[in-house]
Amino acid sequence: MKKVNIFENPEFYRKMILKYNSLLKYDIDKCNGKSLICVFFTSYCGVGCPFCFFHSPSLKKENNLLEELENHFSRDGIEKFISFANESNVGYLQISGGGEPFLEKNAIIECLKRVEADRIILVTSGSWAFDKVKAEEYIDDLYDAFNERKSKARVTIRLSVSDYHNIKLKGKPVVNLIKIFDDKYKNDKNFTLQLKTFENDNSLVNLLNEYFPGFKLNIVEDNGSDDFNHIKIMPWKYVLTLKSGFKIIVGKSRIFNSNLRPNLYDKEEIRKSEKIYDTDLELSQKNNSSIVYNSNGINGIDWIVEYNGNVCTWQNRVQDNLLNIYEDNYNDVLRNTYSDPLTYSYIDKGAKYREKIVSEVSPKTVSLMKSVNIRDYAGTQLFLDEKIRLYYTIRVIQDYLLEDKINTDVLNEFPKELINAIKSNLKELKCNYFKSNYSILEQELSIPVNALELHDFLELVKLGHFEISDDKVQKAIKYYNFISNSNINSIDEIKCSSDLEIEKRLTKRMMERKKIKSEEAPIYYYLCRHGETNWNVEKRIKGQLETIDTEFTERGIKQIETLATFIESNNVQAIFSSDLSRTVETARIVNNKINVPLYFYNKFRGLNMGDFQGKSIDCFLNDDYVKECFKDYNLVIPGGESINQLISRFKDGMDIIRNKYNYDRVSIISHGAAISNIKSSISGDKYENIDYCVLKYYNNNYEIVEYGNYN
Ligand code: SF4
Repeated sequence: MKKVNIFENPEFYRKMILKYNSLLKYDIDKCNGKSLICVFFTSYCGVGCPFCFFHSPSLKKENNLLEELENHFSRDGIEKFISFANESNVGYLQISGGGEPFLEKNAIIECLKRVEADRIILVTSGSWAFDKVKAEEYIDDLYDAFNERKSKARVTIRLSVSDYHNIKLKGKPVVNLIKIFDDKYKNDKNFTLQLKTFENDNSLVNLLNEYFPGFKLNIVEDNGSDDFNHIKIMPWKYVLTLKSGFKIIVGKSRIFNSNLRPNLYDKEEIRKSEKIYDTDLELSQKNNSSIVYNSNGINGIDWIVEYNGNVCTWQNRVQDNLLNIYEDNYNDVLRNTYSDPLTYSYIDKGAKYREKIVSEVSPKTVSLMKSVNIRDYAGTQLFLDEKIRLYYTIRVIQDYLLEDKINTDVLNEFPKELINAIKSNLKELKCNYFKSNYSILEQELSIPVNALELHDFLELVKLGHFEISDDKVQKAIKYYNFISNSNINSIDEIKCSSDLEIEKRLTKRMMERKKIKSEEAPIYYYLCRHGETNWNVEKRIKGQLETIDTEFTERGIKQIETLATFIESNNVQAIFSSDLSRTVETARIVNNKINVPLYFYNKFRGLNMGDFQGKSIDCFLNDDYVKECFKDYNLVIPGGESINQLISRFKDGMDIIRNKYNYDRVSIISHGAAISNIKSSISGDKYENIDYCVLKYYNNNYEIVEYGNYN
């Protein structure tokens, strides 16, 4: 019997490991000291710094729940966050950006009143403090909230000062806030202003020279902590003394040169970025950014909570184990983090261990993670590739087996091929990893893809981001040409058209939000057949065959026009099309009219009629075995697939749309037999030829809204 290579289907085996949440004998009390939380309340910000990784939009769209949950905390989210923070035994709370946290005044005030941390830092660009009177009112309100606390805390507004911020803000907030604190709050040691600037950035000194002559700026220490109880490193710590005697702590940070699209062939640049990453990890995080080191010797967890509710330990997020405070309470988050060998091992063994194991199969990926250098998302970047995720997970299990930290009775419930992989030696495991034909290209195409996304992917391939063979690159180019109607011959012809747009898309992918079950709204699928072709008229079976002699009939063109009007009048938000040429063409023509995101996906192909493809319909329908296939839906058409296989892959595709995207009205351009079979599988009615069928999915159930023929 052929041996199964688990690396041909990495997502499946990773999911299986995650399902067995008692595999690891983890120590739940490992880091039960005071925790640290860095939270982003919003993605919105009007400052518009050119380097901003978040590409923060400046405007909120009102009354759109989905938009709200994707881009900033709802009221419910704030309540959930406060519970999470207090249950996590938070010691140090940093309310941070990107996104300007001070846009979320209510959230800040609630946290000041109710989060039981003993240190609270409010990071800001100061965009709200442009007008001194309004800034003073804002700070007074914060001070009132601070005084309503039941537990003691030290609260600091940490104002970020940089050349970039000053392009728009012109230094005004800095001047206003220094004056307000000097006038009103300088005697309260627990409610303070702090300034933060960057190496090689003179904006602060220039401002001080202009507005506060006679100041003194003295360095206190290198790599000193911002706090007495929780070690939070400031690379350079200064004290600013104004002529009035008012003293302000100033921290200077390193510049990280974050870059979503580094050129991995530029060895010199890569070496520099790696050095910056490594220095920070060693000096600021002691090789483990998921842990906060407390001065009482009891370590805690270092959490990050994003404005969309996603939560993980710092630098330790992985896309197939997303957790979200809207859905998961503190204990769920902790247990899911600890029971996943991938995330637990980082807390347990730190960054060097993680890098060493990944380097066994892909040193390039480690280099890429360091060069991208968006430290919050180091884990996301490192484990972008499902195959690496699975390899790493197995290696961790192997190491924990040696340490007797694996429940072997749980392990024995795994399928044989997975147990064999875990029990194999390093050489065999690596050999299977490299032998597997599955690559990040197949991973990319396992979800619907549009031409822009595939272009982005090819650009990253061109920059050397992935281990991908020349054959696969050619395959990707061919597919790109097909779905985009282009004609490029090599990867060198891939040109970036807009840095900003590409980076926004990459950022969005990196910050993908966990889908929340409780917010599930109905979704409508408009399943529509492609326009009639000459093969239909000639009664020849096309199935999944691609030939160049297929064209739309006059009737087919009219059908496509009708279809475009139908889709437009139903406010469809996106089109997902089968990736066969007659549906691709139909979808393109429709989309010329309605212009919505257009994706292509092989799960929406028509029935694979195998050996009968290219032959006449009569010969197919009169075949005795085929007649049986239409009675028993499990029977596979010779060389093709069974009707149940068709239905199952098509429904898988619809599941993916629901789980991956936030659309509630989508069109799927597909094929007659596929649509008709889906319809009869839902209604239980006899098969009949239809051109379109509208489905409503709600509460785990499909309902047929309408169906029929174009004319
Ligand atoms: S102030 Fe911060 S969040 Fe706003 S644009 Fe600049 S870097 Fe981005």
